[in-house]
Amino acid sequence: MADILRFADKLGPEKIIQVYEPSVNLKALLVIDNVSMGPAIGGIRVAPDVSIKECFRLARTMTLKNAAAGLPHGGGKVVVFADPKMPKPDKKCLIRALACSLRTVQEYIMGPDMGTDEECMAWIKDENAQVAGIPAELGGIPLDEIGATAWGVKHATEVALPYCGIPSLEKARVVIQGFGAVGKHTARFLAAQKALIVGVSDSRGTVYNPDGLEVDKLIQLKATAKSVIDYPQGQKFDRDGIVDLECDIWIPAARPDVVHEGNMHRLKARLVVEGANIPLTSGAEKYLQKKGVLVIPDIIANPGGVICSAMEYRGGILVQSEVFKVIEEKVVNNTRLVLEESQKKKSMPRKVALNLALARVEKAMSFRRWSIY
Ligand code: NAD
Repeated sequence: MADILRFADKLGPEKIIQVYEPSVNLKALLVIDNVSMGPAIGGIRVAPDVSIKECFRLARTMTLKNAAAGLPHGGGKVVVFADPKMPKPDKKCLIRALACSLRTVQEYIMGPDMGTDEECMAWIKDENAQVAGIPAELGGIPLDEIGATAWGVKHATEVALPYCGIPSLEKARVVIQGFGAVGKHTARFLAAQKALIVGVSDSRGTVYNPDGLEVDKLIQLKATAKSVIDYPQGQKFDRDGIVDLECDIWIPAARPDVVHEGNMHRLKARLVVEGANIPLTSGAEKYLQKKGVLVIPDIIANPGGVICSAMEYRGGILVQSEVFKVIEEKVVNNTRLVLEESQKKKSMPRKVALNLALARVEKAMSFRRWSIY
């Protein structure tokens, strides 16, 4: 008990639920952080090496991200300790068992994250649990298929350019870590603005070509279960080699804490836009800020997916263009606001973003009979 309570602070978490079913080898954890603004929305992450700490930090990130985006939702997260690439019948069984166990939890709405997709969300809906991010055939907006988060990352990147001396996206050299739902669509949207995608990585390695990589070819490779390192041209490195690549813009779109005290000195970029959640340790972020690298924090750069989920959850018939319009407006306004304030107050963008989100959560808490729920 004392061990779990070590995460508690003035914002939460409100509940931590262990989900265990040995017959299907289900070991999972739900952290509901703070629901003062409304029921928590946050994705389900499936990975063999997740931890309770990671789950708590991601749930907190969702509380702050939802508040910063002005959504009537709190933050939550599920981690499932399992291999995301397990055979499909096993995964179906595991996800259905998870949904079945959590279907009575009113204050949490499940969504996709690393290792889960729209099909998983359809299984969850079929178990009558609260869910967003379901397939279009069930009335959902397939947020990963359309690149909802990446659309916001692209706009945050564009707004940030003049604040770090990059004249335009045209010919700007971009490196992207992770080539899944967020990474590949970010590459696609930035390449459409004539940015040069010079390096990308996935869990198997890194490919680099200073003259630019063809994004469509990379996407085709991933669609056939290959890796970006199967791309025929360019230099190949191990997956951590992505940190060393020369570029103007570096976009993490994979796991937490990938830039840390041990490798932060190797990063060579003028701008980092956090497509992933908590990809930089706080020490690394402070170091980069001192070095003059601009970092656009996750809670400002990557709310596209959760905005899409929240719109879907409200119901009604939505089209992609409407969702993209809302994401663009929210991300552009927030990025501008945070960067202007940050310049004015000579403060880190993360600090400004945190203050913005915290003020909203604390105000919502003041309206509650209790506080965080
Ligand atoms: P995904 O599972 O679709 O893709 C993850 C990618 O990262 C894969 O290409 C995988 O091979 C790669 N990867 C895993 N470990 C890696 C490592 N150590 N080095 C390099 N690559 C590695 O996941 P996603 O939905 O694209 O999410 C990526 C990140 O973005 C996560 O941090 C997630 O929390 C965050 N995020 C996602 C969304 C969304 O809408 N999907 C929204 C906000 C934030």
